[in-house]
Amino acid sequence: MTSFTEENYLKVIYKLSSETDSEVSTNAVAEQTQTKAASVSDMLRKLSEKKLVSYQKYQGVRLTAEGEKVALKVIRKHRLWEVFLVEKLGFNWDEVHDIAEELEHIDSEKLVAKLDEYLGFPSFDPHGDPIPDHHGVMPAQTYLTLAEIKKGEEVIMMGVSEHSSAFLQYLDKINLVLGTSIEVLDINNFDKSLQIILSQENSLFITHEVSKNILVKVQ
Ligand SMILES: [Zn+2]
Repeated sequence: MTSFTEENYLKVIYKLSSETDSEVSTNAVAEQTQTKAASVSDMLRKLSEKKLVSYQKYQGVRLTAEGEKVALKVIRKHRLWEVFLVEKLGFNWDEVHDIAEELEHIDSEKLVAKLDEYLGFPSFDPHGDPIPDHHGVMPAQTYLTLAEIKKGEEVIMMGVSEHSSAFLQYLDKINLVLGTSIEVLDINNFDKSLQIILSQENSLFITHEVSKNILVKVQ
């Protein structure tokens, strides 16, 4: 059995190590969890005793195969619950993350299997993030960011890499949502801001910062 806090640590370590593909420092974990480094060390020692991480002081931490299994299970539950909240309960995509942070810790294999089936075995959550299957295998996802698209190209919006409500609400406001077709009309040489056309209708300008956080697939 793993506790709520332990699961969150495993999730954080999974996220940090998949970004850097190496051992994660105690400080990086402390920053992500907003906890003091000393408490992080205590927790890492505990997780190490449970064989969920390999942790050597001053050398950083990595997940064991078992730890990765637990992290992927929690991520799977989180993303399935987000699909459920949006598709079945009518929540908006900017409202579901915090609720899923609670629901992801419910420990019932049967509930998750039934939820997955009820939702039709989705591969992606409402933000376009891949959902690991029941073996813990992530669907392959090879998206580009909108910032990488050349002038004149047309793409489909597949996801976001920034999940804050402020960002998602902004996208709602300008009608930039999953599945929208986007044509890059012009790229400003000065600040790399983009002029884009959505679904062959309205044209608008977005900043480089926004375009970096939009995941797309070339049509
Ligand atoms: Zn989420």
